[in-house]
Amino acid sequence: MSMGTPPPPEIPDSRWRQSLRRRLLTWFGVHGRDLPWRRTRILYHVWVSEIMLQQTQVATVVPYFQRFISRFPDISSLAAAKEDEVLRLWEGLGYYRRARNLHRAAQQIVQDHNAQFPEDFSVARSLPGIGRYTAGAILSIALDQKLPILEANTVRVFSRLLAFRGIPTEKHGQQLLWSFSESLLPRQRVGDLNQALMELGSEVCTPRVPSCASCPVHMLCAAYRQGTQALIPAKKPRTAIENVTEAAIVIQRGTRVLLRRHSDQERWAGLWDFPRFATNPGQTAVSNQELIDNAHQLTGMKIDPSQHLTTMQHGVTRFRITLQCHLAHYVSGRKQDDHLCWRAPDELEQLPLNVTGRKIGRLLADRTK
Ligand code: SF4
Repeated sequence: MSMGTPPPPEIPDSRWRQSLRRRLLTWFGVHGRDLPWRRTRILYHVWVSEIMLQQTQVATVVPYFQRFISRFPDISSLAAAKEDEVLRLWEGLGYYRRARNLHRAAQQIVQDHNAQFPEDFSVARSLPGIGRYTAGAILSIALDQKLPILEANTVRVFSRLLAFRGIPTEKHGQQLLWSFSESLLPRQRVGDLNQALMELGSEVCTPRVPSCASCPVHMLCAAYRQGTQALIPAKKPRTAIENVTEAAIVIQRGTRVLLRRHSDQERWAGLWDFPRFATNPGQTAVSNQELIDNAHQLTGMKIDPSQHLTTMQHGVTRFRITLQCHLAHYVSGRKQDDHLCWRAPDELEQLPLNVTGRKIGRLLADRTK
């Protein structure tokens, strides 16, 4: 701990915790939103919603959830689907690894657990894409199991309730907040309490300007008492944004264009895209020779670059990317694996593409109309 940092707070006593639970559960009974996965509490529905809600707002998730459940009404139908179809339904939600893990976990559940989501915490946690938080959230919400949760909203609420000034993602912060979460659990209505805590974080105890005046637990909140809400939770030093240039090659053969699927190790694992590569640091333009060499490396094919198509800007994590898109004609070479396919621009709607791939695809389809 650095000089001048206050010591970590104590977890408040059982009377305080009981008062917090009572107030939160009453508030949630009145203000809890009516969300599709809350109506049924079916394990599969809660699981899908929890995966979709990771790093994504509720309002964005609802239509995706409804489309997903209507296409895959149970674990068996999800397990039997082609990965391309799962990714296509996920397109626009981002963090595509979540969809691939969900699909793999469904296949594992069909194979090892008779198509029933496991009710045992450690078994659930061993599935792809399910960590301590997600397993706790699913089993507490669907089955009322006495399991704590800790995610972005509850990290913020807990840190403020305790006036914890350390960095919550660091080890001692995590230990404190998980212990606090565990100490709050009631004997019954665990799922409601966990959802109330998350709801409070997303609707009232918001990151920038928390609505303390309408908060049902402000009289118990240490940060409110001190006036330190705006300083909590403490942030990690920001990672600097890096500007990079990448190139996408639209290889044309007659009326069709070549698509390449990102491998497991690449940024958009499982999604289709136009062959794409990063230029050298500081470089902003791409030469024809680089297009030829990289097309060969990525696809095994020879091309003849023709013209610049468009330039796009987009952000991924800490990178601000300028994407130079070029047209090229196919010259020779065979499609060697399943990670390549030829499609007409108006057939691209069937494939799951990353955001820039989709934009280029629509641009090409408009040009051919
Ligand atoms: S009083 Fe304010 S800071 Fe404290 S939990 Fe409520 S909304 Fe958050």
